[in-house]
Parts: sequence; structure tokens; C-alpha cells
Amino acid sequence: MQVASLSNGQVRGRYAPSPSGVQHLGNIQTAIVAWLQVRLAGGQFALRMDNIDTPRVKEGSAAQILDDLRWLGLDWDLIEGIDFVPDNDGVYVESHYLSYYCEAFEVLEKQGLLYPCACSRKQIRKVVGKPNAAGHYVYPGTCRGRKISYFAEEQQLVWRYRAPDELICFKDELMGEQTQNVARAWGDLIVKRFNDLYAYQLVSVVDDIKMGITDVVRGEDLLDSTPGQIALFEALGAEPPRFWHVPLKTDGAGNKLAKRDGSDSLWMLREMGKTPEEVVGQLAFELGLVETSAPLGLGELLHCIGS
Ligand code: GLU
Repeated sequence: MQVASLSNGQVRGRYAPSPSGVQHLGNIQTAIVAWLQVRLAGGQFALRMDNIDTPRVKEGSAAQILDDLRWLGLDWDLIEGIDFVPDNDGVYVESHYLSYYCEAFEVLEKQGLLYPCACSRKQIRKVVGKPNAAGHYVYPGTCRGRKISYFAEEQQLVWRYRAPDELICFKDELMGEQTQNVARAWGDLIVKRFNDLYAYQLVSVVDDIKMGITDVVRGEDLLDSTPGQIALFEALGAEPPRFWHVPLKTDGAGNKLAKRDGSDSLWMLREMGKTPEEVVGQLAFELGLVETSAPLGLGELLHCIGS
């Protein structure tokens, strides 16, 4: 894949929500940090709708996300010189770019880095027995030496990327030094799924390369996916961006917030009559960006931490 240095040394970031439900305050916190990071650096900020995982897309969710972000006062830029065309809201919509994922898949395949696999999740669990310390059932490599001709035509296949069996180290801008052996932590990663959809790990990397993203700001839940993505950036001939993983926000009982239940959703707070300034002030305080939780507009927050 031809990788141009699209951003000319300028900072370019993105917020990349998945339209799979309402945004909870953890998502909003990440969006605010992503926006602040770019605005403080005088860079460009893109909004990307990560809707490639079509079975998880919920109707109305993308529109609700845009409405929430605008309500908060968050703005995004149109970026010149990238092969992504924004929709009418200035948003880059992932599912429009299938040919890019296909192209990246071929680049990896030509290097002999991919192989087809017919193992179901259930079979893998059975073979592996128990998850590793990180909670993953590491793929044991059952189909590693097999070619497509080995499988019957009607068999449903995923495609896996041969994860490098070596330590990948990087310094997260918020979480510090990280190391992981992807082969041991995850096993070979799925890049294309049974339903023929390209998988998040590949798609996200391709989008970031194509958009010339220099800084990826996202939730801490994706920290342990990052070394695998770094390997993919490199296999596609691209320099990995800087990463900023924002600590996950928990509910009062210390549980991770989930989109499913709608608790702690921004939508709920809006219904309760909260103002954007109240929400931003509270989240900025919880992030340790300001000393009190007094209401604060996004512009004021930017001004106050930038000065
Ligand atoms: N779309 C992903 C999510 O909402 C984030 C992807 C990313 O930032 O790399 O969890």
C-alpha cells in the first residue's frame, strides 16, 4: 500500500465512534480528550463513523451521536487531500470504503501473512481449555499451515493474520510504556470474518493510514489491541501513529459503562435537563483537567488548559 505522509507533520486526530447504541459518558470523555488533544496542537480533527460492523449498527445511533457531539459544542474539520469523501455532516463513514480494506487484505496476502481458518469460537475454546491472563482464548494455530484448497467449498472461513511472535513495545502518551507479544496474547488475528466482513483490527488501521491520522485517542479498552494494530501498520508499510488511551470511566460500583443499558448515557443527562457546560465541567474535573466541577464550556476548557 502506498503510504503518503498525508498530514505534512501536522497533528491529525479523529474520534471514531461505533453507531451501536447511545453514547455513554465514557465515550463522551474520550471524544473530549480527542478533540482537546488536536485543538491544543492546532491540528485537524476528523469525525469517523465506524459502521463497518453492520450487524451491530443500530438505526438512529449515528444521528444521535452527531446530535450529542454538537450539543456539547464539539466541532470537526473537513480534511483536504485524503481519499475519503465526507458526507453532508462532514463525517467520514467507514462502510463507504470497502475497496480500501480489500486492497490492504491483498497487500497482506501477497506477503504470505494471511491464511484461511475454519475454526469456530466454540472449537477454539474447547481446544484451548481456558483463557490466558488477559482473558483471551489464544488461537492455537490449528489452520496455520492450510491453504484455501484444503477446505470444502461450503465451509465458512475467516482469514487470520500471522501475528509476530515477538515483543512489540510502544509508549502510550497517557498510559506509558507497553509491551505485548501478540502471538502469545491473542494468537493470529482475524482480519476477515465468517460473514465476509473485514474485522475491526484491520479496518481501523487502514482507515487511520488512509486518513493520515497521527494521533489515535480512544478508550483504554483498546489498549491491548494496539500492539496487533502496530504490527498491521508495519506490515502495510505505514508508520504507526501515537496512541493516547483514555482511562475507562466506571459507574459508582466500579463497573465498566456499557452502551447497552443506557445508564450513564449522555442522552439520559440531556433528558434530565443538564446543560453542556455542566456535563463538560464534571467530565473535565473527573479527568483531572480542572480543579473543580463547575460548569464549563468546551471552548473555555480549551482556553483554560491551553494557557
Ligand atoms: N469504533 C471504536 C469504538 O467505538 C473505536 C475505534 C478506535 O478508536 O480505534 O470503540
